[in-house]
Amino acid sequence: MNFDLIVIGAGPGGYVAAIKGAKLGLKVAVIENIRAGGTCLNRGCIPAKAMIHASQLYKEMHEEAGLVGLAANNIRLDYSKIVDYKQETSDELVKGVEALLEGNGIQRIDGKGKLRSDKSVAVVDAEGNETVYTADSIILATGSVPALIPVPGIDLPGVLTSDGVFQMTDLPQKIVIIGGGVIGVEFATLFSNLGAQVTIVEALPRILQNMDKEISQNLKMILKKSGVDIHTGAMVKGISQTDGGLCVAFEEKEKPFTAEGDIVICAAGRKPYMDGLFDEGVEIAMKGKEIDTDETKAFETSHKGVYAIGDVVPGIKLAHAASAQGIYCAEYIAALKDGAAFDPSIDLSVIPACVYTDPEIAQVGLTEADAKDQGIPVKTGKFIMSANGKSLITHEERGFIKVVVHEETDQILGAQMMCARATDMISEFVTAISNGLTAAQMLRSIRPHPTYNEGITEALEDAAGESLHTVPRRRKK
Ligand code: NAD
Repeated sequence: MNFDLIVIGAGPGGYVAAIKGAKLGLKVAVIENIRAGGTCLNRGCIPAKAMIHASQLYKEMHEEAGLVGLAANNIRLDYSKIVDYKQETSDELVKGVEALLEGNGIQRIDGKGKLRSDKSVAVVDAEGNETVYTADSIILATGSVPALIPVPGIDLPGVLTSDGVFQMTDLPQKIVIIGGGVIGVEFATLFSNLGAQVTIVEALPRILQNMDKEISQNLKMILKKSGVDIHTGAMVKGISQTDGGLCVAFEEKEKPFTAEGDIVICAAGRKPYMDGLFDEGVEIAMKGKEIDTDETKAFETSHKGVYAIGDVVPGIKLAHAASAQGIYCAEYIAALKDGAAFDPSIDLSVIPACVYTDPEIAQVGLTEADAKDQGIPVKTGKFIMSANGKSLITHEERGFIKVVVHEETDQILGAQMMCARATDMISEFVTAISNGLTAAQMLRSIRPHPTYNEGITEALEDAAGESLHTVPRRRKK
């Protein structure tokens, strides 16, 4: 059977590309061998955020209900029910994606797709039957899988990756997490909220190394305060079985240490998933372990008419980045078919990053340190959320909003937030940066009261040196 577009992989990159392609008039098929929704809906973003939500509610019932005049007795935690709730949330969203694929007339092909050198795709289904499909364009969107660190004991039972954590039905009491990146700190938040004793072992000098330094330092302090033991600059040497569980041996400042847990979570990054994707004879240029693509041709690989998006290509590996690349790529393919000019509807250069800790973390664009490294003259504004009405009401006054503005043009270059609803509010800055807005233009809009977003107005006013609600600070000449 012949299609205009075959997409291999129905994760947030693949299913969005397929739907966009279909809406633009392409005859589309999507091949998936597990479940629609990919890592994001089944083993990543959605299950993690659902469980974090449940854990926060549990913590708030204990720690905050009393602050607003509520008394709750006998609050009990049933971990298996939290797991059920996580699963129901994922299932609901997966059903939604399946309905969208069907509703847009996209052919779902269940099985494992293999690209062949004549640009056809062979699909082997669960019974082992092979069917061959052809298409003018093919998008590879097969995503990524957790990476394991090469240390002795990494294959011991009880050493889990994020995939295994979501399948657990009992709450462990002691957990060692290898890696203080995004997955590491989110799991640390989740399990410490539920009362488990958590240790993070991170090789680099700080947790969330890629984020604004002040955010990393604050988060370290907050996690420590809630009982998480954090070791940075700590290299894991091996894992061994003990009578009661597992023991992680690591070296910190050249001294040997150990941390014990009922389980060990390896959260040390992910690697592109391409097992069995290429038939013999297929030659696709790689860049390291990822598929090399030409961004000027909407992620076309070295194989003409074959594109790759999401976690299999170099660059930021986030669900929303993959979806945006999917839209971009589908628009390019549709324009090629119609002989029309390619006029992408989406800006791929501005990608926000969010971390679902407590408080939440979000950033986009340049930090002050990035601007300094790049020699860009900037002015910065900062607002501490303890002076924000909504934050006081909800007892979420920890945190801040920072904004980085071009000194001469007044254009918004970046923002970093660590506060309640940071992951929702960051989009104000994404819109501003991708549309070249200035701080003055952002300040023209009235933000409703009382909201967390009022903190954005305050940070912008601070950058302009015109803060109405904070005591003026002296500026360096
Ligand atoms: P990561 O790259 O963010 O962090 C991995 C951490 O493990 C790094 O800090 C690294 O220094 C550390 N590490 C590696 N080897 C180590 C060793 N031997 N000993 C100690 N520490 C070691 O990767 P991740 O947290 O596994 O996340 C994987 C991907 O999933 C990332 O691309 C991430 O952005 C994405 N993700 C995003 C979200 C979100 O958007 N909220 C949530 C989860 C995951």
